Amino acid sequence: MNTQILEKPDTGTADFSALMEITNRPPIVFTQGRGAWLWDSDGKRYLDFVQGWAVNCLGHCPPAIASVMVEQSTQLLNCSPAFYNAPMVQYAEALTAASGLERVFLANSGGEANEGAIKLARKWGALHRGGAYEIITIDHGFHGRTLATMSASGKAQWDALFEPKVAGFPHVPLNDLKAVEAAITEETVAVMLEPIQGESGVWPATDDYLIGLRKLTEQHGILLILDEIQTGMGRTGKMFCFEHTGIRPDIMTLGKGIGAGAPLAALLARVEVCCFEPGDQGGTYNGNALMAAIGLAVLKKLSAPGFLDQVNIASRHLWQGLEDLSAKHNLAGARGKGLLLALNLGDRTDGGAIVENGIAQGLLLNAPAPNALRFMPALNVHQTEIAEMLAILDGLLAVH
Ligand SMILES: *Cc1c(COP(=O)(O)O)cnc(C)c1O
Repeated sequence: MNTQILEKPDTGTADFSALMEITNRPPIVFTQGRGAWLWDSDGKRYLDFVQGWAVNCLGHCPPAIASVMVEQSTQLLNCSPAFYNAPMVQYAEALTAASGLERVFLANSGGEANEGAIKLARKWGALHRGGAYEIITIDHGFHGRTLATMSASGKAQWDALFEPKVAGFPHVPLNDLKAVEAAITEETVAVMLEPIQGESGVWPATDDYLIGLRKLTEQHGILLILDEIQTGMGRTGKMFCFEHTGIRPDIMTLGKGIGAGAPLAALLARVEVCCFEPGDQGGTYNGNALMAAIGLAVLKKLSAPGFLDQVNIASRHLWQGLEDLSAKHNLAGARGKGLLLALNLGDRTDGGAIVENGIAQGLLLNAPAPNALRFMPALNVHQTEIAEMLAILDGLLAVH
């Protein structure tokens, strides 16, 4: 692997003021990535266990995807969703076959896919459940940053933002089946949740809860929507997280890892649920040939024999390493599945400081809460890279 800096790009005066301030970014400009590693404009190297927020499932700049991008961009980029293109058709077949959900709508971001899921459920409710439109969602859930998906999310910090919100998203606590049952009314059309809450800190829905939700929604004739934007595409050691339980959702959304770093997302649904008519749903870039070709190449990589076995092996190494550090530093253990893991810092609330100190030492981590660190490396992360991360983290945890 070529890990040399090719040339030092000009990052100008490092005046960032032309950008809208939407988050607190460290004053670093990244210029190159390869596998588990990133380089900044000073040539400093970083071990990346964030990977674009569980996006770069094959690491930075995977050569197989780069070559597909080059090849497809010499053939056809875009002819509008008003026409079929070859990669769009092939990819739709492959993704529906892999998921067992028979229909797909290709989108550009997770929020957009979830917005489509909400629309599809509401249309289905209008046609088949007497105009029911409410979607029961979960406290602390995260579904995106469009107005409807912010309304569906259960982030307390967003409660007072951008009022009035989109109506029709009652919230219940995670892993409480009775609370869902109690919230179902004549207006209910669906239950929507992440199989593992990612943004709020890697909080898994239990298998029993998911199986119970499937039964409950069937009994009441309402839909089950799984937001697998963070958990899908091999992240939890199966292609889709719902496979751990044997259930099948009615609607599922994918994003993040699906494009390995390219902006791609998908809304999938059982054929019985697909009730969009021409004009209900669309978007200028949806299903464009370049993104579809990339998605197909990513899916092929993730479905190659042995790929997910490697994810599970890497997961066990990371899990064991985190448990060892937890015991050594008196913390509260690991949680999560596959390569979406968190370390519970217990009484410590210096997750933010640990992340900051990590950056200084060339390690990128994420603290979804003050008392937790989240690990979402590339799915093809090497054992040596896991060991190196754990060694740096050991040092970071020694500082109070
Ligand atoms: C990231 C994420 C989204 C939003 O995806 P975007 O591509 O940022 O719009 C939605 N749901 C979950 C579970 C996510 O992790």
